[in-house]
Amino acid sequence: MSSTGKQKEEEPETAAETARRQLERAAAHLDVDRGIIDRLKHPDQVHRVSVPLKRDDGETDIFTGYRAQHDSVRGPFKGGMRYHPGVTEEECTGLSMWMTWKCAVMNLPFGGAKGGVVVNPKELSSEEKERLTRRFAEELRDFIGPMRDIPAPDMGTDAQTMAWFMDAYSMQEGETQPGVVTGKPPVIGGSYGREESPGRSVAIITREACEYYDYPLSDTTVAIQGFGSVGANAALSLHEWGANVVAVSDVNGAIYDPDGLNIDEIPTHEEEPEAVTTFDAPQRVSNDELLELDVDVLIPAAIGNVLTESNAPEVKADIVVEGANGPTTTTADEIMETRGIHVIPDILANAGGVTVSYFEWLQDINRRQWSLERVNEELESEMLDAWNGVRTEVEKRDVTWRDAAYIVGLSRIAEAHQARGLWP
Ligand code: GLU
Repeated sequence: MSSTGKQKEEEPETAAETARRQLERAAAHLDVDRGIIDRLKHPDQVHRVSVPLKRDDGETDIFTGYRAQHDSVRGPFKGGMRYHPGVTEEECTGLSMWMTWKCAVMNLPFGGAKGGVVVNPKELSSEEKERLTRRFAEELRDFIGPMRDIPAPDMGTDAQTMAWFMDAYSMQEGETQPGVVTGKPPVIGGSYGREESPGRSVAIITREACEYYDYPLSDTTVAIQGFGSVGANAALSLHEWGANVVAVSDVNGAIYDPDGLNIDEIPTHEEEPEAVTTFDAPQRVSNDELLELDVDVLIPAAIGNVLTESNAPEVKADIVVEGANGPTTTTADEIMETRGIHVIPDILANAGGVTVSYFEWLQDINRRQWSLERVNEELESEMLDAWNGVRTEVEKRDVTWRDAAYIVGLSRIAEAHQARGLWP
């Protein structure tokens, strides 16, 4: 509240600011060397590159690309590459920090990175996207590699983008290097189940959270913002497991059926981009209204900073499971904590993506593909281990799920820094 007593508009918060605040909160619970916490507030390196692109009409445009490499004490940098007009250095830095914690919560031998190009991929032809990707791979070639930094898909990029990236890198290195990126098509060393994995892990964690808080899945209502790779796959799994997914949305808006939607009949983004609102449903609501629906579980699975100071007081769900990276601002988090809403954080809930990326990297190193059954079995077991680890901290320390996940991740990272020391 400002001194005039009027509600003050929340300053837009960058991902890096949110990530640093969350780190401080978790650090307060642990006896970690101050120098290590301070190191973790800064990325090791942020690469900024210019990516010239010859457009289909013959003109040349210059795009800006970034790769933020946050921390590699536990293994090579790892994280997605997004193509989005809102990409900034600050955003990549914050997202790279979240990747460090995410990999540590899952106990994967990776550090955190994130990158992207400031571009609207919808305004590129497929040929332009290919040329942009190949040139971006070339600009980053000195800083990445299967043992150094391993990109993956993120917003605006997909398996085809990773195939071009891997091909450009491999052609320049003179040998096929499938392990330089994950999220590739299975025919060139990608893993079965990778595409569905972030959404699948969101569904697994939602199922566990519902069981923990005594919400039988068949009586539970779920609203999901976003019907891209994360939202659609989470919706499909939860629907298959008997939950009532009552609302889903894409950029055009949301559809709502209090009796539950037939999720498997709604065209996915791949089948028909942005077609959610063309589906026959009893009610149409806006994306903002979806967040305030009277449901048991809310899954924001679209973009960052959607739960804010202004709508957090209106959230009616009892459990929020973060499908997107960073959908909740610091103030919204505090408001929901006070209101007794259980927020299960992104670094646990959507970590199935990077976990299957790790499986893919192992398959690439061993030149041996796993079956989909094996991927899904191992994903399930990794997610349950991580869930149980975080749950133990929630119970032991009486903290939020986010603080507990940070405590698990930060303890592992801090111990590794302590063991390796600071040199030179
Ligand atoms: N972009 C995904 C994430 O935010 C996956 C990263 C990866 O697989 O490296 O977790």
